[in-house]
Amino acid sequence: MAQILNGNAIAKDVKDELIVKIQKWVAEGHRPPSLKCIIVGDDPASHTYVRNKVTAAKYCGIDAETIRLDSDITEEFLLHKINELNNSNEVDGILIQLPVPDTMDERKICNAVSPKKDVDGFHIINVGQLCLDMPTIVPATALGVVELLKRAKIETHGRDAVVIGRSKNVGMPIAMMLHTDKRHESGLGMDATVTICHRHTPRAKLENYCRNADIIISATGIPNLIKADMVKPGATVVDVGITRITNAEGKNKLVGDVDYEEVVKVAGAITPVPGGVGPMTVAMLMQNTFQAAKMLRDKTTVLQ
Ligand code: ADP
Repeated sequence: MAQILNGNAIAKDVKDELIVKIQKWVAEGHRPPSLKCIIVGDDPASHTYVRNKVTAAKYCGIDAETIRLDSDITEEFLLHKINELNNSNEVDGILIQLPVPDTMDERKICNAVSPKKDVDGFHIINVGQLCLDMPTIVPATALGVVELLKRAKIETHGRDAVVIGRSKNVGMPIAMMLHTDKRHESGLGMDATVTICHRHTPRAKLENYCRNADIIISATGIPNLIKADMVKPGATVVDVGITRITNAEGKNKLVGDVDYEEVVKVAGAITPVPGGVGPMTVAMLMQNTFQAAKMLRDKTTVLQ
């Protein structure tokens, strides 16, 4: 049976370490870090995510506030609101819960957040810096995957990794950090050899890439995509997928991309869903908020 990579426990360690750092920061005379979460519309999943983030922030000693906006607001109104927060010295981190309504240009919204306050790491400058291995604010899910692998002492140097999913917010930044050079400035590189698969990767090839991989990271949102016969015995399997399904008893359930019950028998290490990458994402968002607070204090920018 595989080692279970307990995201809840590792995320708690990250948050508990952060509590100590934030207490020290406040004892030095700074106000607590502050995070503003904007949510547009009433998508229940988005509201749950934001609630979890606010709860975690409070646990860590971060002041967090949810700003709820109606789905029928204009893009201009949202941009104006973001600008107000950008200009406030009382705000360190700004998060716009995605997706925004179809009437808005998501890229424009992400780029409207000051890169120094962009705790999601979605601003074009932060994405660019990540791709250049420069210090930056890294998208929380990707950072969560990297932190989980590090803390679980999963060797990546020289290993073969497959990332399934190439989204700009999740798959791409994971693949980016996995393949880059640890000696580079950001220090986040993991020196693995990475194959990126996506919806146009033929199934037989996907299976083959996976079978040869030491590390499989799946971020597609397709339940049961990764079967036990696709996993090399002893491989590490990280399941980033989160899909809400209704099971046979009519109950709502969260499932990942991996056929967990079977894959757990073959893998060397595996993340469960829920309780794997999800809590890591939230913990890393808190870390990003504290990083943003320090940048505001030091008047540094992620460009320096
Ligand atoms: P997220 O942003 O959470 O990663 P997206 O829905 O934006 O999720 O992206 C899903 C990703 O999964 C895409 O990159 C897509 O190409 C990939 N994908 C979808 N279907 C398959 C498939 N059958 N095999 C491999 N990858 C897939």
